[in-house]
Amino acid sequence: MAFCLGALRVYRRNASYRNEFADHRKHHTMMRSHYCGQLNESLADQEVTLCGWVHRRRDHGGVIFLDIRDREGLAQVVFDPDRAETFAKADRVRSEYVVKVTGKVRLRPEGARNANMASGAIEVLGYELEVLNEAETPPFPLNEYTDVGEETRLRYRFIDLRRPEMAEKLKLRSRITSSIRRYLDDNGFLDVETPILTRATPEGARDYLVPSRTHAGSFFALPQSPQLFKQLLMVAGFDRYYQIAKCFRDEDLRADRQPEFTQIDIETSFLDEKDIMGITETMVRNLFKEVLDVEFGELPHMSLAEAMRRFGSDKPDLRIPLELVDVEDQLKDVEFKVFAGPANDPKCRVTALRVPGGASMPRKQIDDYTKFVGIYGAKGLAYIKVNERAAGVEGLQSPIVKNIPLDNINVILDRVGAVDGDIVFFGADKARIVSEALGALRIKLGHDLNLFTCEWAPLWVVDFPMFEENDDGSLTAMHHPFTAPKCTPAELEANPAAALSRAYDMVLNGTELGGGSIRIHDKTMQQTVFRVLGISEDEQQEKFGFLLDALKYGAPPHGGLAFGLDRLVMLMTGAQSIREVIAFPKTQSAACVMTQAPGEVDNKSLRELHIRLREQPKAE
Ligand code: ASP
Repeated sequence: MAFCLGALRVYRRNASYRNEFADHRKHHTMMRSHYCGQLNESLADQEVTLCGWVHRRRDHGGVIFLDIRDREGLAQVVFDPDRAETFAKADRVRSEYVVKVTGKVRLRPEGARNANMASGAIEVLGYELEVLNEAETPPFPLNEYTDVGEETRLRYRFIDLRRPEMAEKLKLRSRITSSIRRYLDDNGFLDVETPILTRATPEGARDYLVPSRTHAGSFFALPQSPQLFKQLLMVAGFDRYYQIAKCFRDEDLRADRQPEFTQIDIETSFLDEKDIMGITETMVRNLFKEVLDVEFGELPHMSLAEAMRRFGSDKPDLRIPLELVDVEDQLKDVEFKVFAGPANDPKCRVTALRVPGGASMPRKQIDDYTKFVGIYGAKGLAYIKVNERAAGVEGLQSPIVKNIPLDNINVILDRVGAVDGDIVFFGADKARIVSEALGALRIKLGHDLNLFTCEWAPLWVVDFPMFEENDDGSLTAMHHPFTAPKCTPAELEANPAAALSRAYDMVLNGTELGGGSIRIHDKTMQQTVFRVLGISEDEQQEKFGFLLDALKYGAPPHGGLAFGLDRLVMLMTGAQSIREVIAFPKTQSAACVMTQAPGEVDNKSLRELHIRLREQPKAE
């Protein structure tokens, strides 16, 4: 039989697979002629063979309907009693049996069409039915919506993934990676693999360690990223590298994180940040156009300082029009200490957030928002409801207005653009607390009040500081210690806290999609950064000797970035969690409930690894 057009369409992007697929058909090694979801009117009167799972079985007064499901969708197959043997088999099958069906495509009568089914305009009149495998009743039904707990879904992930919405997400993920590969291949990037058993690469998380059997007492670290290897590939002259790379970070999984995750990892030589941002921005623009038919304009650039000031976040969600507006200057001299204290402290921030139309907010909602900002350490949430500005103080409803001169209030209300009917929230505390609390409140209000002005809002955040100060006054690299500063080694050493880096992050809808930087390619600069970070000469040699060596032997100027693939797919599929777009994710406690990993190992294996446990595991 001729290879069907529908199937061709799906594989048009992958010529070699297409040929293989066609060849198999020629040699009759493939069982199916079509995927269920690809059947349509153009195939009317043709014979087809389907292979898949029994999604639903219905007995309609002497006629049996089987909905057969495969990864492309569903097809309805009708068995009538004329073919007694086939009919008897159809009568015996149950949900999730694996079957092969041969039959003829026919149009459904007008009234019997199903717009919710890709193949809903046709049905197949079944001639032959072969049961390829039986199935026990699945732990949760697939043919109706049921609220199944995530633990059960993950334990039986192979069944969960049969659900069309899950299959859709993984299919989209595959289209995303192939679009990205195509773009990078076409632009001269080489796909190079880097080791999984390696040394620690500092990206700010805890390492996963693997004990060495052949080197007693020594451990490999799983890579937190291929960072140093991709830099070494630049030193080796590869010029443009990419890898869709697994990375491992042993973090507390409070947020939506996974201990192993995938990055689209990129590095280039002889390009500056403008070039690298340009290439990768085009990659992302192409991707959205190809896969979702969404067009972005050029991405705006925003400094970190501006993002923090206006949105209280290093990854601002620009779909939400609310902004933070600083008002310390108006509150320095007021008697109200809650405001005057922070307004006079350079480490603090006093800011206002206007919510248009928010004056009608009930007390309970304000109380809930007060609790919400408490999560971020805010001690309260002051507000002014602007009922009628023309009425002066009388027109303002607020627990704080009596403590602040009306002139100052009016300057503040003018500055935030408040009009009658608005509410203005205030934050006054340590700058970090205020930005985090009001930044998060801004997002929450955006969702609660549905304030989104567009569907996609990408941007670049730039001008990050080189270092963050820890509570004990020591410094940590804001990106990683291989990021180049915008200044000379001498300037960096003289005032590290003021130094900006050549790093950049791409942000989409309030999520960091990726980040990278121009790297240090000069040994003196690299050692200066290590010194500022408090890494002694000995430790530098011990941990990064190979990098310092590489920097001596002709390292080109280079830089790159990495995108988080799971996050990207999550945004593009509209999934609620990255676990929904990973075939076999770990739970929040970093375990796999299906394979029961991590698992205990026997004493012999531990001995070989030179390991003695501090506490014996509890007997089962
Ligand atoms: N290695 C960095 C990361 O994993 C990305 C980069 O700088 O290229 O975040």
